[in-house]
Amino acid sequence: MQTNELSNELLRRLADFRPDGARVLSLFLNLDPSQFGTARARATEINSLVDQADRCVREAAGLDHGQEVALREDVERARRFLNGTDFEGAHGLALYLCGPADLFEPIKLPRPIETRVCLNDSPFVEPLAELATRGSWCILLVNRQVTRMLRGSRERLDELPPITDEVHGQHDQGGWSQARYQRSVDKEVHDHLKRSADIVFRRFKRSPFERALVGGPEEIISDFEQKLHPYVRERIAGRVKGDVENTTAEDVRRAAAPAIDEIDRVREREALDRLEEGVGSGGRAVVGIEDTIEALNERRVGTLLVVDGLTAPGVFCRSCGWVGVQDLKRCPADGGPLERRDDVVESAIELAILQSAEVLVSRHYRDELERRGGVGAVLRF
Ligand SMILES: [Zn+2]
Repeated sequence: MQTNELSNELLRRLADFRPDGARVLSLFLNLDPSQFGTARARATEINSLVDQADRCVREAAGLDHGQEVALREDVERARRFLNGTDFEGAHGLALYLCGPADLFEPIKLPRPIETRVCLNDSPFVEPLAELATRGSWCILLVNRQVTRMLRGSRERLDELPPITDEVHGQHDQGGWSQARYQRSVDKEVHDHLKRSADIVFRRFKRSPFERALVGGPEEIISDFEQKLHPYVRERIAGRVKGDVENTTAEDVRRAAAPAIDEIDRVREREALDRLEEGVGSGGRAVVGIEDTIEALNERRVGTLLVVDGLTAPGVFCRSCGWVGVQDLKRCPADGGPLERRDDVVESAIELAILQSAEVLVSRHYRDELERRGGVGAVLRF
C-alpha cells in the first residue's frame, strides 16, 4: 500500500500543518491482528470508521458550504482508499485528509490504535506522538500545577502534551482563613499529582518505556512518585535537574543526557558481561547474525544486543514472522513463501520486541560487540 512509515520527521511535518481555513479529518483504524486478523473483521471496522467520519462531518457545527463539500469529498476518498488497500502486517493505520490543502497522508502504525475520528483545523497527532516516540526513555517534570512528559532517547526527546491544572497561589485571599485556604490548595495539588500519575500510566500502557527520570521540587517529586502506578515507579532510574516550566525539550534533553549516559553505560556493560559469560560457558548466549536470528526464531532471546546501524540481507515470512539470512524460498516454520529483504536486522529487532526481549543498541562498548559480529543474544533457556 502507498503509505508512509511513522517517523518523527513525518510527525513534525503534520504537527506544523495548518491549512488556511480548511478543516482536517484525522482517522485512526485499529488493525490489531488479534481482533482484526480476518478480512471480514477488518471490513467491519473500516465501515464503522467511515460511518463515524460521515456522521462527524454531518454533525459538525460552524462549517461553511465550501468546507462541508470538501469534507464530504475527503470522507469518500477515505472510503475508497480504506476499502482498496492491503494493510500488510500493519497493526494500525492513521489517515489524514484535507482536500483543499492537498493533504492525503496514510501512515502505517507498528502498534494497535483505537479506531476513532477527529475533525479539527489541524491534524490530530497526539495518538501518533505516543507511538512514534517509543524510545526507551521517559522524562517526567512535575511541579504543583504542571506535569511534562518527554519520550525518546539521549539524542532526541519529544514532548507529549503537558498536563496542566489550575492551582491557586499560596498567598492569602480575603474571606478565607489561611488554614482553610491552605487545605484547599493542598487538595488541588494532590488532585493534580493524582491526575498526572493516571495519565502517565495510561500513556505508558499504550507505549511502554524502559526507564524514567524525574525532575521538579523535591517534596512534590516524592509525593508524585507515591502516586505513580508501581509499573511506572519501578522504572524510575534517577533524577534530572532543571526548571519544570521554562525549559524547552532541548534544554531537558541536555540536562538528562549525562544521567542517561551513565545508566545506559552500566546496563550495556552488564549485558555484555552476561553475553561473554554465556558464550564462555556454552549455550546460554549466542553471537553473530546467524545464531542470533536462529535463537530469535525459536523465541529464546532474553536480551538482544546489536550495534547501531548493523544491516544484513535475508528473507522474511510475512505470515509467521520467521526471519532468515539463508537463501531460502519457503518458510521452515510454516512453508509459506519468503520475501527477500535488503535488511532483516529491523525484522529481527521486531521479533525480539514481540518476545518481550530487552533490546540494547550498543554504543558505549561498540568495538567489543563488533568483534563478536555486531550482534548477540543472552538466552532465556
Ligand atoms: Zn512462516
